[in-house]
Amino acid sequence: MKNRTSTLLIDDIPIAITRRKMKSLRLRVCPQKGDVKVSAPHFVARGDIHAFVVKNLDWVRSQRAEIANREVVPVRLMQTGDSIPLLGQTFRLHVEGGVSRPSLKCLADNQLLMRLPVSAGLVEQQQLIDTWYRDQLKLAVPPLLERYEPIMGVAVKQWGIKKMKTRWGSCNITARRIWLNLDLASKPAQCLEYVVVHELAHLLESGHTPRFWAIVDKTMPTWRAANLILNPRSRK
Ligand SMILES: [Zn+2]
Repeated sequence: MKNRTSTLLIDDIPIAITRRKMKSLRLRVCPQKGDVKVSAPHFVARGDIHAFVVKNLDWVRSQRAEIANREVVPVRLMQTGDSIPLLGQTFRLHVEGGVSRPSLKCLADNQLLMRLPVSAGLVEQQQLIDTWYRDQLKLAVPPLLERYEPIMGVAVKQWGIKKMKTRWGSCNITARRIWLNLDLASKPAQCLEYVVVHELAHLLESGHTPRFWAIVDKTMPTWRAANLILNPRSRK
């Protein structure tokens, strides 16, 4: 059966009801905007859903009040004078407004010129930095692969850069493809080097076994310092 959605208004609060294949009613207040959502089994009558919400209305109100009163953190735009890190170097940002197309240019002496339309915000600024980071990683990774592939006796078929929330890199052993986290661009160069070595080592040993760490140790004896920057809570 497909999920059906409808709305119920209780005391001026819209309640979104989604019918699902489930056993009992579930009520939640979304932490972002305070939207109220009920998931209900197909067999529960609308009147029972109404009663269920009314019974929990004090809780719903207190949750919504808390969300409404939450302190809104003002967005701080990047400004002239800000430092932008790149693989252990620091770049000084200059921000200029009033152009029609956003752009970012690297000038002499580690200066970065960011030009933005008046309407641009932090999202556009971040996009410019991300594109620059991506370009810089595309330049920095090939020499590392050329250096370590022959040493380790492996060859990747494909590699790429993407934003990752929980990992610095990943390796698909069958496809011999590695992914590197875009955020590595903002870390010291040795961190990128370590993640490349780490992912290449997975082509020889899939798990984090003693053999795996022995390969990493032998290939890049200084890897622990880089690992500590990337994973401060690591006990390796
Ligand atoms: Zn790993």
